[in-house]
Amino acid sequence: MILQCPGCRSTRIAAHHTGRKVCTSVGTVAGAASGVAAASTGARIGATVGAIAGPAGSALGGLTGALLGGVVGAIAGGSAGAALGDFVDDNILDNFECLDCGHTFSVDTD
Ligand SMILES: [Zn+2]
Repeated sequence: MILQCPGCRSTRIAAHHTGRKVCTSVGTVAGAASGVAAASTGARIGATVGAIAGPAGSALGGLTGALLGGVVGAIAGGSAGAALGDFVDDNILDNFECLDCGHTFSVDTD
């Protein structure tokens, strides 16, 4: 897709992705928070599995389970946030700026 400024027909267009950046950050934090909440389950499972290897394995397994919960949650939240941010950028915000005349505009992607 070649973008063109609706004002001066320039093709020197910059995309801001403001919504994407904001939503990705918010999604990552929210996802990590819910991931950490779910991590207690992961920690319990990890501790149970790790217990086979003894007390050290139990502690290590619990830690691994908690970490995995947080990381997986953050990634899932970040992806969801990025998708939402793209939608906001495309449909709500003036996501594009003309580098020649400074005009900002949004584009119908369909
Ligand atoms: Zn322009």
